[in-house]
Amino acid sequence: MPSRAPGPAPTPPTRGTALRHRLAELRGGGDVPAQPLDARALAALAANPGCRRRALLDGAGVDKTALASSLGSPSGFGQSQFAFMRGNAFEARVKADGGAELLRLTHGRLGGGPEPVPGESAVPDLAAAGPEGRAARTALALREATESGGWTLLDHPMLALDVAGTPAFLEPDAVVVHPDGGWTVVEIKSFPMIDGSADAAKVGAAARQAAVYALALERVAARLDPAPSIRHHVLLVCPKDFSNLPTASAIDVRKQLSVTRRQLARLTRVEDIAAQLPEGTTFDVRRPAAELTAAVEAVPATYAPECLSACELAFHCRTRAREQGEVTALGRSIRGELGGLTTIGEILAAAAGTSGDPDDPAVATLRRAAALRSEALAGAAASGAA
Ligand code: SF4
Repeated sequence: MPSRAPGPAPTPPTRGTALRHRLAELRGGGDVPAQPLDARALAALAANPGCRRRALLDGAGVDKTALASSLGSPSGFGQSQFAFMRGNAFEARVKADGGAELLRLTHGRLGGGPEPVPGESAVPDLAAAGPEGRAARTALALREATESGGWTLLDHPMLALDVAGTPAFLEPDAVVVHPDGGWTVVEIKSFPMIDGSADAAKVGAAARQAAVYALALERVAARLDPAPSIRHHVLLVCPKDFSNLPTASAIDVRKQLSVTRRQLARLTRVEDIAAQLPEGTTFDVRRPAAELTAAVEAVPATYAPECLSACELAFHCRTRAREQGEVTALGRSIRGELGGLTTIGEILAAAAGTSGDPDDPAVATLRRAAALRSEALAGAAASGAA
């Protein structure tokens, strides 16, 4: 019998493919598409870096909105259709005529070269297949724009950022390349800017998002020689007063950049969290609620009231945190004041004097407060009886 020539040895799975496979399993199989991580999610992730549950679910691309519904605690997130359409119409207006108005505003607030001449600025086509293809096309367009020495508007570019071991693809509203070679992130929002200033909370959220984009741009710039400079002021474009005319403001995001950089670096690697899960764990939203609850509870969470405005699982995690009497449900500042006391039960026991070290300042304060309360209640009862 003729012997068969040995074929090529099978390629062992690389660490990257093994992780992708594991994350697909957690989502419920290869037929469940991964939810892309957006800058809003990343900014929120960086705001609660201690939460392994969110890091894993976001890293695996689990649809947290659908998961929250399957768990029986639907999230209260979402933009109305009307607000969505109004936002899109405003963005289209800002970018009309080859971005003439947007580039005029960028030059007016941030300079970076001679005034742009309408019709003479470049708006490269960034279309490509898939997010990886679009990210590669964007990187090429950024390089060409920097070398051209003119004004270039990149409309909805695609940027890649490695987050806790998995790539996140991010799509800013726009990036402008100035004639001096600098790159600026542009955020277009539909909340009004009245007399030059807008709602501080909304501006803060926009700045945190923009910082995530600037961080991803830094990674693209680092691969060029010489590396172009990323401007640490982003351009926030909003409707002026109560009109739909655009106006803009330059926002310094250096603080948000350094916070986000530090927080993202501290995120526990997704593969380490996944490795600690029981065999067969899945967050497939088609599974029964009880099974999903067990899977979610298998990943440690760090609930804080801030989750209510940042994470789709907030109602579920709040209920669990309250059931378990976790002090974090009362807020991070209270948690910080209470030192080693982490549950409501421990706090009540310490206040009643049945447990806790009396030399612990938190325990001493709780006992003093309990004594004052008893005195006040006794005084009130005595005056009521008189
Ligand atoms: S809501 Fe739950 S999963 Fe989301 S960040 Fe808060 S604790 Fe983590």
